[in-house]
Amino acid sequence: MTVPSVTLNDGNTIPQLGYGVFKVPPADTERAVAEALEVGYRHIDTAAIYGNEEGVGAAIAASGIARDELFITTKLWNDRHDGDEPDAAIAESLAKLGLEQVDLYLVHWPTPAQDNYLHAWEKLIELRGAGLTRSIGVSNHLVPHLEKIVSATGVVPAVNQIELHPAHQQRDITDWAAAHDVKIESWGPLGQGKYDLFGAAPVAAAAEAHGKTPAQAVLRWHLQKGFIVFPKSVRRERLEENLDVFDFELTADEIAAIDAMEPGDGTGRVSAHPDEVN
Ligand code: NAD
Repeated sequence: MTVPSVTLNDGNTIPQLGYGVFKVPPADTERAVAEALEVGYRHIDTAAIYGNEEGVGAAIAASGIARDELFITTKLWNDRHDGDEPDAAIAESLAKLGLEQVDLYLVHWPTPAQDNYLHAWEKLIELRGAGLTRSIGVSNHLVPHLEKIVSATGVVPAVNQIELHPAHQQRDITDWAAAHDVKIESWGPLGQGKYDLFGAAPVAAAAEAHGKTPAQAVLRWHLQKGFIVFPKSVRRERLEENLDVFDFELTADEIAAIDAMEPGDGTGRVSAHPDEVN
């Protein structure tokens, strides 16, 4: 099993499938990440706010895997956009992770009411220049936020990590990203288990046709659309299942049927609207 790599707009590469650790309790994180590394994951997505960077770091250190075989992402939290706070925040994250550099550092939310995401982006450009992160990107940025940071700095984020699953596809953002060579990372790729995604007819039919599980069919949909994904689970069998998605391909019709699952009234979002997180 080989996870394909995606080349970012800065020339760096990222494994298209990884392991996300949102809501993995700090006390379980070292074990869960160690298991993920054992079953073959090489890309881990964490964040300062998840409170589990130390567990991620402990698992990396114990794994003996060469640093350049791993891709580690963490994120700047919302209350640390101002002044030199981003410098302190990344230093703390690196210390917890036991790393000298992360592979990708993201502005976690634009927090538009604070109106300081442009400053945060300018700081990330500096942090990349200082070698503390190889790539920089954003998360939960809507098109106006993206337009603002790119027109002010001329630096296009490598990725935008957004809520994305069949009921919430954010086509305005994915279209903008395609036009500007920004890769999309789908968070909540399985809808966070908050609606009956696996029982939906297009997903169930695709899974059955290929002898795979509904979760595998949905992950395949993300991958074939070019999105980067890092589903979360703390169960070894699901870690294995979610990685075992490179031996089949959905047909164009199966993809179109899943595309058509998004409700037209925009009610498919399962988490917060970025304008309301401040
Ligand atoms: P997800 O869609 O990955 O759903 C996780 C849930 O799906 C878990 O509760 C798990 O029980 C279930 N699940 C996992 N594999 C399964 C399988 N094979 N079969 C059946 N059920 C399965 O949601 P998520 O964890 O929110 O998103 C993935 C990652 O995205 C996070 O861990 C985190 O790294 C990132 N994320 C980022 C943001 C952000 O604001 N940037 C927000 C949320 C999540």
